[in-house]
Amino acid sequence: MKKLVKFCGSSLASAEQFNKVSKIILAEEARRYVVPSAPGKRFSNDIKVTDMLYECYALAEAQKPFDKELDRIKARYNEIIQGLELELSLDGEFETIKAEFSKKAGTDYAASRGEYLNGIIMAAYLGYEFIDSAEVIRFKEDGTLDEGATQSLLSARLEATEKGVIPGFYGAKADGCVKTFSRGGSDVTGSLVAKACHADVYENWTDVSGFMVADPRIIENPAVIDTITYRELRELAYMGATVLHEDAIFPVRKEGIPINIRNTNAPDDRGTYIVESTCKKSDFIITGIAGKKGFASINIEKDMMNSEIGFGRRVLSVFEENEISFEHMPSGIDTLTVLVHQPEFEKKEQKILGGIHRLCQPDHVELETDLALIAVVGRGMRSTRGTAGRIFSALAHARVNVKMIDQGSSELNIIIGVSNDDFEAAIQAIYHIFVTARI
Ligand code: ASP
Repeated sequence: MKKLVKFCGSSLASAEQFNKVSKIILAEEARRYVVPSAPGKRFSNDIKVTDMLYECYALAEAQKPFDKELDRIKARYNEIIQGLELELSLDGEFETIKAEFSKKAGTDYAASRGEYLNGIIMAAYLGYEFIDSAEVIRFKEDGTLDEGATQSLLSARLEATEKGVIPGFYGAKADGCVKTFSRGGSDVTGSLVAKACHADVYENWTDVSGFMVADPRIIENPAVIDTITYRELRELAYMGATVLHEDAIFPVRKEGIPINIRNTNAPDDRGTYIVESTCKKSDFIITGIAGKKGFASINIEKDMMNSEIGFGRRVLSVFEENEISFEHMPSGIDTLTVLVHQPEFEKKEQKILGGIHRLCQPDHVELETDLALIAVVGRGMRSTRGTAGRIFSALAHARVNVKMIDQGSSELNIIIGVSNDDFEAAIQAIYHIFVTARI
C-alpha cells in the first residue's frame, strides 16, 4: 500500500498544525510521499505566506525596500521551526531569496518559496528526503505543464526515494526558470506525484471533513458526501462547489487513483472519496446540491419556429460571434431560451439582440435577469422514482417559483432556474427534503 498525502496551507500554518500533520503521516507506514502547501492562515484575518511573498516581491520589482516584509515571512517560518524544536536554520535560504528578489527572479519564483521552505522544514521534521519540485515537475516554454517529462522525471526520482517531501505549487522549465501552477496548485502537484508513484490513494488533507452535500454558508452543518464520482464532482464544481483545484483531477482519474479528502483537525473522520465509478449508493439519493447566482435569460419567440430549419443554429451563432458561452438552452415549439452569465452578457447585450433580430427575425424577444441556477446532482437519481417530483414539491412548499428545468440526458443532474432572491430558500428546501427529513 502506498499513499500520497497532500496538506493544505492551514494544515501547516503553525508548529501546532505541523505536529498534527506529522502524527497523521507517521500513523501509517504507507504515507510515504508528502506534498506540503505554504503556511496558510492561523486565524481568520491572518495572511497566507504565499500572499506575503507576492506582496514582498512586488516591492522588490518596483525597486522599493522589501527587507521588512521579507523579515516578516522569515519570522513565520522561524516560529514554526522553534515550535517544533528543530535544529534548522533557514538563514542561508533567506539570503538566496533576498538576492534573487533583488535580481528580479520573477513572481513565480517568489511565490514558490512558500512551499519550498515549508518542504524543507517538513522533511527535516519527519526525517524524509527533500525533493525540490524544480527538478521533477517540468513546464514547457509556453508555461503549460509538460506531462511527459514530469512523469518520467518524477517516477525515476520517486523510485529511488523510500520516503520523500515534494513541495506543492511549482516546478521549472527546462532552463531551470521556476514556474507555478495557478493558485491552489499544490493539489495538482499532489495528483502528479500520486500518479508517478502509483499510489493506491491520494489523500488530500484540508480543514473540512470532506465534500459537503451543500454550501455551509447556506446550510448549517451540512452532511458530508461519503463517495462521489468524478462526473458528479465536475457537475458540482462547475456550479461553484470546490474543494480541489480543477486540474488536480485528470492525472489521477486516468490512473484510477481515488482521492480521499480528509480533515487535518479531525483525522478520524473518514472524509470523502472521489472515485471514477462506484456501486455504492449515495446516502440521500442525491449526492450534492450547488448553485450560482447571476444569470440572464433571452427568451425568443417566433411562430412556426419548430419547422424553421437552422433557427437554433442561427441563434447560437450570434452568441458565438460575440464570444459568449451559453449555459443552457431549453426550448418549446415556438420558443427558445438561452441562459447566459449576466455580467458577460450585459457588456454585449445590444450587439447580441441586434444579431438575433437580424439573423432570426423573431416575433418577440424578452430578457429576464437576476436568475440563479441550482444543480441537484446524484448518480442515484437514474434508478430512483420520484426524485424530480420531490424536488418540485419541496420548492412549491417553500413558495419558490421555478423558472426553468433542465434534466441532462445522463440523468446525473437536474438543473433548476429560480430568481436570485429565491436561491437560498430553494437550496434549503431541497436539502431538507432529501437530507434532514429524508422524505
Ligand atoms: N500556496 C499556494 C496558494 O496559496 C498554493 C496552494 O496552497 O495550493 O495558492
